[in-house]
Amino acid sequence: MNTSIAHAGIPCRDLPISSKADILSKQKHAKYVYTFGNGKADGDRSMKILLGGKGAGLAEMSALGLPVPPGFTITTQVCTWFTNNVGEYPPNLDVQVTESIAAIEKITATRFGDPLRPLLLSVRSGSRVSMPGMMDTVLNLGLNDRTVQGLASDSEDPRFAYDSYRRFIQMFADVVMGVPHHHFEHILDQHKRARSFHLDTDLSAQDWQQIISQYKIKIHSEAGHDFPQDPRTQLWHSIAAVFRSWSNARAVTYRKLQNIPNDWGTAVNVQAMVFGNMGESSATGVAFTRNPATGDNALYGEYLVNAQGEDVVAGIRTPQQITIAGKVANRSNLPAMEEVMPSMFHELNAIRHTLEEHYSDMQDIEFTIQRGKLYILQTRAGKRTARAALKIACEMVEEGLITEDEAVMRVDPSSLNQLLHPRIDPTAERQVLAEGLAASPGAASGHIVFSADEAERLAQSGEKAILCRTETSPEDIHGMNAAVGIVTSRGGMTSHAAVVARGMGRACVAGASNVNIDYNANIMEVGGKILQEGDIVTIDGGSGEVMLGEVPTIEPELSGDFSRLMGWADKRRKLGVLVNADTPEDCRKALEFGAEGIGLCRTEHMFFEGVRIVAMREMILATNVAERRKALRKVLPMQRDDFAEIFRIMKGRPVTIRLLDPPLHEFLPHTEAEMHVVSAAAGLSLDYVREQVIRLRETNPMLGHRGCRVGITYPEVYEMQTRAILEAGVIIGRETGVNVEVEIMVPFVGVEAELKIVKECIDKVAKEVLVNGEKVHYVVGTMIELPRAALNAGKIAKQAHFFSFGTNDLTQMTFGLSRDDAGSFLPTYEKRGIIEADPFVHLDEEGVGELMQLAVERGRKTRADLKVCVCGEHGGDAKSVIFCHKLGLDCVSCSPYRVPIARLAAAHAALSSGL
Ligand code: PEP
Ligand code: MG
Repeated sequence: MNTSIAHAGIPCRDLPISSKADILSKQKHAKYVYTFGNGKADGDRSMKILLGGKGAGLAEMSALGLPVPPGFTITTQVCTWFTNNVGEYPPNLDVQVTESIAAIEKITATRFGDPLRPLLLSVRSGSRVSMPGMMDTVLNLGLNDRTVQGLASDSEDPRFAYDSYRRFIQMFADVVMGVPHHHFEHILDQHKRARSFHLDTDLSAQDWQQIISQYKIKIHSEAGHDFPQDPRTQLWHSIAAVFRSWSNARAVTYRKLQNIPNDWGTAVNVQAMVFGNMGESSATGVAFTRNPATGDNALYGEYLVNAQGEDVVAGIRTPQQITIAGKVANRSNLPAMEEVMPSMFHELNAIRHTLEEHYSDMQDIEFTIQRGKLYILQTRAGKRTARAALKIACEMVEEGLITEDEAVMRVDPSSLNQLLHPRIDPTAERQVLAEGLAASPGAASGHIVFSADEAERLAQSGEKAILCRTETSPEDIHGMNAAVGIVTSRGGMTSHAAVVARGMGRACVAGASNVNIDYNANIMEVGGKILQEGDIVTIDGGSGEVMLGEVPTIEPELSGDFSRLMGWADKRRKLGVLVNADTPEDCRKALEFGAEGIGLCRTEHMFFEGVRIVAMREMILATNVAERRKALRKVLPMQRDDFAEIFRIMKGRPVTIRLLDPPLHEFLPHTEAEMHVVSAAAGLSLDYVREQVIRLRETNPMLGHRGCRVGITYPEVYEMQTRAILEAGVIIGRETGVNVEVEIMVPFVGVEAELKIVKECIDKVAKEVLVNGEKVHYVVGTMIELPRAALNAGKIAKQAHFFSFGTNDLTQMTFGLSRDDAGSFLPTYEKRGIIEADPFVHLDEEGVGELMQLAVERGRKTRADLKVCVCGEHGGDAKSVIFCHKLGLDCVSCSPYRVPIARLAAAHAALSSGL
């Protein structure tokens, strides 16, 4: 034990005499201890920073007149002092603690250390935010060889008294003196075995007395000290232990993971003990003021008769339900509190209303019943599922407890993910084989297949397929679409598989590095297990797990609450929310989810389907412009039909179509069979095709012949696409009588001249197509996805009507971090704190974000009405959307299933910034 309760104060050796006196006097008068109890409190709920969540809640409840055992809170400032001054306390703390104990003694008519009516205390941590189970607690403090006798006669239950004493010794020895639990468990087990006892409840007062003697001997031999008998020594050592536990390894790791600053510190709550283990009229439990899973407006929770809080946590006994409804729902045959303790139940139910009205939120409360008297030990906002959050928010508006604005802020945008996809039944058993990145939410079961063609074949025969690939490429699109889920063993959150799966709403686990696929043998090895093609797995794209066999799932239900809350959100947000969609299915889904238009229609998949890929390969391998045009003419009508269908579905809403972006390298034929097909179709010799394939292969395709570079070297490609877009616009204009609005977006621009050349090409085609008064409203803009483009935004804006940040590539290029490979080492970077989060998931605000800010400022300086959007994956990430709002962007665009998240996040941004 190294704790000193001497009050050294801060070092002030080097200060002038008057300053020293000043500081010491301030310290002497500073308030470090806040009392509560008997309907009064020094603090209140606004003082969480100083009193911690638990302390602030106890003060508030006490002032409300709720039955809270009296106590006091030592502030978080003392924790900081204690940590900075090697275990010492500020001056005057002991006086304030002594006065506060006297206040408890007065309320409870007991005395600390009194052999007849001893005051017993609990000492608990309580930081600003909950850190469950991370710090230490000491209960039953104040018991010693004399006071235990007082407790025995006062409670008329010696067995209870000695059991409480041994629990205290065990806890104190572990937390304060560093003597681990297992020594005591061992003594207890030996005693039980010697007496042939099975349960702790078989032990009598004498048994506990004998065990206590053995505990004390063990403590002396292990710690080199006796267990302290003086209650004040016990108290100060316990306070120190709780403060020290703020810095234990568990708590430090937890804070790092949760981004909780180390200098917040914990408060210490010292409170009169109440006992839930004083017989059959005593109990302890946890209750929620509404059901945290469903949101139903009824008390919900569990309790244990004749037990202390630690028994509930230990899980040795099965808890009972508080309500009869809960008992029925949980198919429990144990009696509900509503049945066996009706008056306690009614009192608890009345407190639930008081707390909800006071806090205007669902509360999670801890309670203890001591011989028929109810005490509340804690209240805090209760954690809830997304479904419950929506229901509670909507109903609280109806009940007049909160405003619509507050309701919108009550639902975490990212949590909506839980509602939009099927999910694993939380009660189902599962055998997890592998873990990768949670790349696209949703749960799916199916037969594993290793090729896109096989996935398609299986789907056509009515079976469900899980497509497992080392990584995917645009050629796999048809298989990804046919599969119910996708697993890759390589790749990050913006790898091809992840982006496409999110777009399609397919569940996807990406970068599961312990999955080894052998395409030749048609097997995959995972965690030492060999799976054959056709074996069944279940994947959870929300957690990144791959599981063996079929695990039951639950279908999503978008209730009325969902659309009500989203309606309120839409009224408040300033950012437009568009969708990244390139198939009719995506477009329809996106409209269902509330998208206002298409912010990014990637056209590449339109080149990969069926005969198109052959024509595209003919185009790449052609030896002259005429042959290239001939090949592209085959693709034109198909693209025109694709665009027409999209315009038809979008019914006049704005549509942004991006011209071809991926490296030509990706279109090259790979296999001999593919080369045969192309050579026949193009009338080229097989040898020539082979040579060209080798010649055109790129070492670094992501930085190669892609985006507008293709549009400049092979203008026929963009000409054909522009023609397809505008002719489709004309067709739909005629069909519906409504002019089509289209934004033609040029990818991978780094230099103003690139955009100028491509724009001239687009305008030339438009002149050819839009004759005879045909009207399609088109504008030309660009992606900003290269750092150079962001820096040169002022010049580029001369040619662009709009910008859309391609933050996937912009992140890749700014960090020099491959979006397909970073998944293998980024987790180490996150763990070691080198980066806060995967920058492909949450926008890197201080790097990529600064480039975006520059681009917005410079672009709008040139063109004040420049429309600026974001269409990288960050457009559907709540945190990044809030950042986009702050940057003053006009809109965000994201995959269909993330549209609701973006809508709600945009409303949060508007409401919290007041703009
Ligand atoms: C981007 O780079 O952010 C983007 C939207 O384009 P893609 O993901 O198609 O490269
Ligand atoms: Mg890009």
